[in-house]
Amino acid sequence: MSVTAIVGANWGDEGKGKMTDYLAAGSDIVVRFQGGSNAGHTVINEFGKFALHLLPSGVFYPGVINVLGPGVALHMAGFLDEREQLISHGVPEPDLRISERAQVVFPYHRLFDEYEEERLDKRSFGSTRAGIAPFYADKYRKVGVQVADLFDERRLRTRLEASLAVKNVLFEHLYRKPRIEVNELAPGLLEDGKKIEPYVCNTLGLFREALAEDKNILLEGQLGALRDPDHGIYPYPTSSSPLAGFAAVGAGIPPYAIKRVVAVVKSYSSCVGAGPFVTELSGAEGEELRARGGDAGEYGATTGRPRRVGWFDGVATRYGCQVHGATEVALTNLDVLGYLDEIPMCVAYEVDGEVTEEFPVPAKLDGAKPVLKQLPGWRCDVSSAREFEQLPKAAQGYVRKIEKLIGVRVRWISVGSRREAMIERK
Ligand code: GDP
Ligand code: MG
Repeated sequence: MSVTAIVGANWGDEGKGKMTDYLAAGSDIVVRFQGGSNAGHTVINEFGKFALHLLPSGVFYPGVINVLGPGVALHMAGFLDEREQLISHGVPEPDLRISERAQVVFPYHRLFDEYEEERLDKRSFGSTRAGIAPFYADKYRKVGVQVADLFDERRLRTRLEASLAVKNVLFEHLYRKPRIEVNELAPGLLEDGKKIEPYVCNTLGLFREALAEDKNILLEGQLGALRDPDHGIYPYPTSSSPLAGFAAVGAGIPPYAIKRVVAVVKSYSSCVGAGPFVTELSGAEGEELRARGGDAGEYGATTGRPRRVGWFDGVATRYGCQVHGATEVALTNLDVLGYLDEIPMCVAYEVDGEVTEEFPVPAKLDGAKPVLKQLPGWRCDVSSAREFEQLPKAAQGYVRKIEKLIGVRVRWISVGSRREAMIERK
């Protein structure tokens, strides 16, 4: 029995899509356990370049079952569109399953997101406006709708009425926008429900059988540890837990079944949206790193927004690995740093005049300043290296320094955005 969680140790966009696509080759099932179509997981393989939003990154392998677990925010049209797009790009029909317990993102969740960001204006949280925060708020306020409710019109209408009673007051009187009526909404939802019905099943049963048969299961997280509502940079987290611990809940797998936790770590820092970001670079240095980062510059895979960038943050990353309980690390984007003579790395923070290696609570994070150490650069292209020893000594040293700071072994080093640009250390 082998269940592995693949999770982000930073602020998201670490390269989880690439790592999941890479590791899915040896897997039977890949599961998304939280978040929704606000994700942008870039995968570049023989079929082309894709930004997966809702679908698990195992969809490129015909033998792999791809599951949306109960913890996911299911946007039905998004799901159907993404599936079609894959097929139109020559990807074989993926084997997709949706948990009957997953809840559904509705048009009013997206409207809420939009109206609320408008209302907050400059104080906004940088939402992707995919309706994710209003969706999870509804789920935990117990006015959400599960996939199985879509197949019982009476029940669906009752659930929608309960939800809209409060929403319409806010729409009319807080946001000054039109009301939404159940009659406008229900027919479209019932229709979309029919379209997704072939994929809906009891995923708990699927996992039970898979575990009994010793299958390999990957649990793919969205975003990163620092966006966790409890352990992250509150009030700038995402609305569901991206932690490996939550993978058991959001997928529906016994916690003790998760044997490996692969934390995906980026060789520098990037962050989309608002919130404290201690190693952030501004000016020309930041522009250059942003332009050179990722596969085509650091721009949001879903939104196209420029990502904030900074040097590698050893304090935040160690913390991220700790809250996940990382057993191994995949370090991505090492090739990006080949243009620098010297590479600054954040090894500690200065908080209230004191140097600390502990990641502070959000109340103390705003004033934190990075303590930077200069590491020698390697000034060359490492993207064709496939063995650790093929990396220049300075690049090896950079990886070892990260390992030392975070206290977890770096097992994989990604040196390019394509699937094959990967080093696995023995
Ligand atoms: P995710 O949300 O964690 O899946 O990450 P994203 O796909 O949003 O962002 C990661 C970016 O880095 C994408 O542009 C990837 O194509 C790119 N990427 C991943 N690994 C590497 C790598 O090792 N080198 C380079 N240059 N780009 C990479
Ligand atoms: Mg992303």
